[in-house]
Amino acid sequence: MRILGAGGCFDNRIYEVNQAAAWSLALLCFNEMGIAVKETDEAHFIIKGRLGEKNIQVAVEALDADSVQIFFDAQKDVLQVYSWTREDKEANKFYDIFEKKLTEYRAFILCPGCSAKVSSLAKFCPECGIALK
Ligand SMILES: [Zn+2]
Repeated sequence: MRILGAGGCFDNRIYEVNQAAAWSLALLCFNEMGIAVKETDEAHFIIKGRLGEKNIQVAVEALDADSVQIFFDAQKDVLQVYSWTREDKEANKFYDIFEKKLTEYRAFILCPGCSAKVSSLAKFCPECGIALK
């Protein structure tokens, strides 16, 4: 459910992917969006970062072994009490990139070295160690 606030946006979406994979995909999203990571809490699967004038926080909560809920929260330091501008472009971009990466993650390629099924995002084959890109 998306909540548009003063100078920010909170949203959560559910995905069918395990928590460890969702966590690494979320980190890739931060990287791709140019969000400066300030803190990663790997015990609780929370990433905190900074983009422009906004504090970004993403939490990856496991619902069960194969599904997660991803919370995205972007807020300015100082709340804008009166603003007609929608402040949800970071949330839209984050989920867009996340969904794109999830599709790539689900797509497998065959390793040219050992024919193992490997995520198309992998740079090296986890089975034989050959460089894939
Ligand atoms: Zn291989």
